Amino acid sequence: MTAGVRLVVLGKQGAGKGTQCVRLSHRYAVPHISTGDMLRAAVREQTELGLKAKTLMDSGQLLPDELIMGVVAERLGERDARTRGFLLDGFPRTIGQAEMLESTVAEAPLDCVIDLEVPTELVMNRLVSRRVCTACGAIYSTSQPPIHGWVCDNCGGEVIQRKDDTADAIMVRLQAYEKETRPLIEFYRDRGLLETIDGSEDPDSVFAVTVAIIKKRQADQSR
Ligand SMILES: [Zn+2]
Repeated sequence: MTAGVRLVVLGKQGAGKGTQCVRLSHRYAVPHISTGDMLRAAVREQTELGLKAKTLMDSGQLLPDELIMGVVAERLGERDARTRGFLLDGFPRTIGQAEMLESTVAEAPLDCVIDLEVPTELVMNRLVSRRVCTACGAIYSTSQPPIHGWVCDNCGGEVIQRKDDTADAIMVRLQAYEKETRPLIEFYRDRGLLETIDGSEDPDSVFAVTVAIIKKRQADQSR
């Protein structure tokens, strides 16, 4: 059986993080833990946490680090994560969360933190040309459209450009991400955990490079 892995994956919107996370979690057979997905599910299912999160978000407040860490810690405590490892996507977001994570996983620390780096101009091009299926969420682009007009190949749903995928809106999100993430990059660089990967190549190459880097990390650790 292949070894698992304990990873944090960082990357701005349009850097291909979603694609790489799915492939990495399959490759290492570890749960892909997306805090965004978990919170959306909690809100949908109206769990105690979901209701609390919704109240805060509706009033425009950020969710406290403790609340998010609580959700993540619970998931990390499940058997698959304890035995195989995990891939964290969208977490940590703040230094406070990063510190809490560090102490939560103190006994089996992270193998590394992958930062998918893509120039803003390229990300901008990717995002403004992006088209999305309104029914199943499949992603297309103006250069790779569905086969028959703007009808989804998977489900026949309507494929559209999202309202918030305009150049101005994207720039605002990218700048916010940059500001939010810079301290985290420093935090992990200081701990020798940061691996910056060029995400501008095609997804297969990015994946191959990432796997090679993880392999080297794990070999160095077991030495
Ligand atoms: Zn679809």
